[in-house]
Amino acid sequence: MTAVTSGNMSTARTASREQILLAEAHGATNYAPLPVVLASGEGAWVTDVDGNRYLDALAGYSALNFGHRHPVLTEVAHRQLDTLTLTARAFHNDRLPAFQRDLAELTGTETVLPMNTGAEAVETAVKVSRAWGYRVKGVAPGRARIVVAGGNFHGRTTTVVSFSDDDSARDGFGPFTPGFDRVPYGDIGALAAAITDDTVAVLLEPVQGEAGVIIPPEGYLRAVREVTASRGVLFVCDEIQAGLGRCGATRCSELDDVTADLYTFGKALGGGIVPVSAVAGRRDVLGVLRPGEHGSTFGGNPFAAAVGSAVCGLLATGEYQGAARELGAHLGAGLRSLPGVTAVRGIGLWFGVDVDPAIGGDDVEAGRAVCVELARRGVLAKETHGVTVRLSPPLVVTRSDLDVLVDTLGEVLRDLTRG
Ligand SMILES: *Cc1c(COP(=O)(O)O)cnc(C)c1O
Repeated sequence: MTAVTSGNMSTARTASREQILLAEAHGATNYAPLPVVLASGEGAWVTDVDGNRYLDALAGYSALNFGHRHPVLTEVAHRQLDTLTLTARAFHNDRLPAFQRDLAELTGTETVLPMNTGAEAVETAVKVSRAWGYRVKGVAPGRARIVVAGGNFHGRTTTVVSFSDDDSARDGFGPFTPGFDRVPYGDIGALAAAITDDTVAVLLEPVQGEAGVIIPPEGYLRAVREVTASRGVLFVCDEIQAGLGRCGATRCSELDDVTADLYTFGKALGGGIVPVSAVAGRRDVLGVLRPGEHGSTFGGNPFAAAVGSAVCGLLATGEYQGAARELGAHLGAGLRSLPGVTAVRGIGLWFGVDVDPAIGGDDVEAGRAVCVELARRGVLAKETHGVTVRLSPPLVVTRSDLDVLVDTLGEVLRDLTRG
């Protein structure tokens, strides 16, 4: 595996360099990608426009749980492309009902409302929770409140960033949507104290991904379930990144024997092919919506539904959930053996590795410095919150791929610490 060096990255007229210049010429500035230009992928590996190969240890933030171009998924997608792709919801299509059944059966839910992106699913859950609060719980008009957690990440729309506490997600984007109360993640006392008669829902990630793979204290999710049930409040569990295999289970919340009232799913639900998200949960809760009150032109389109059904089919065997547990144990052992890491948090095949903040120096944060260097050596990962390197390889990765990941990370940490 030969990776691009920083020298030729900045000077040579490589195909990567040309693409990066083109991106800078016409692309908006809302991302700062690593200087890698990917052109093809298969399984856990991708290749850039100059022919360098990389292990994909990010997997599209879990959107690529089944790897790049999983043959079962691409076959279904090709077939559907040649049949019917879009109808809008003005009509039924012959793929959506089966997708709704498949996701409901897979996740142990009753009713499925399809959308496209994760943020849309979260917005949908917020709207449904509020409507349920007014129409069923009897909250006075305009007073519904939703309890959320510090450090949350639920997407990028204006309402969703309204309840973020991440300055880079919020600054410059107000005024914000009211009606949210934020409490520290993992603190059941604070959560219970924040619930009032106007509270309609508690919205939580079962593991906080963007925050750095933060796993709540043992028993927390169960306690949230008990408190919300006893206080007449919905528990909305955002499984968009944690669910569908990543944590070693279909629903991450199922690892704690927790059944929420509503779940949001996304990312892996589209098989790395097309955006597919959904709110799934209780029929009596999702049933508060009346025709015309909520929807999406693309949500539930036959192409997305066919791919979504195929994803449910892959997960129905439990094979990928088991792979996440086994491969995760292997990767975790390797990561914990590395010198130069200050913490390793993990669940399933999902890890947050905190590196020494001194790495990187004044102008680049440690996590970023490590990810830049990993990419130069053929491993793609993404930092979060300064010092955390987030690892979520596709669930089709092999043990020897993971050994490459651990060895490369070890070399990078050794070289950057020495440098
Ligand atoms: C990624 C993510 C979202 C938002 O999904 P998009 O498809 O990017 O809108 C919401 N919640 C969680 C937990 C996520 O990880």
